Formats: sequence, C-alpha cells, structure tokens
Amino acid sequence: MCFLGCDKVETEVARQQAPGFCPYCGGKVQAFDLISRCRFCFLPIGFRFKRKYFCSLCSRRLVLYHF
Ligand SMILES: [Zn+2]
Repeated sequence: MCFLGCDKVETEVARQQAPGFCPYCGGKVQAFDLISRCRFCFLPIGFRFKRKYFCSLCSRRLVLYHF
C-alpha cells in the first residue's frame, strides 16, 4: 500500500456503454474504467483498477446495485 495522504491520480483507460438505465432519469449508463494510483508511487502495487458508472444524460454517479 501507499503512504497515507498521497495524492490519488485517476486515469481513464476505457469508456463503454453499460447495460441498464439510470434510476433517476432513465438515461443510458456509461461505464468508465479507471486506473487509480498514487502520484508519487511508481511501484505496480500502488495501482488499483476501478470501474465507475455514470449516467450519460444527467451525469449522476451510479452504483452497480441499482441495476
Ligand atoms: Zn440520469
């Protein structure tokens, strides 16, 4: 793990249409694959792979269990 308090940098690596619809407005859902790492950590152990979901219409952050 990295030191506490180091800056997190998130790099978008992929963007794709996700199945399901936004529970707020019914818009389409986009999935973003991100690599999260600490700005000052260069070891591979500092990398974390994340996937986030956003509505393409209202831009709300969505969580997977809504689908
Ligand atoms: Zn929406």
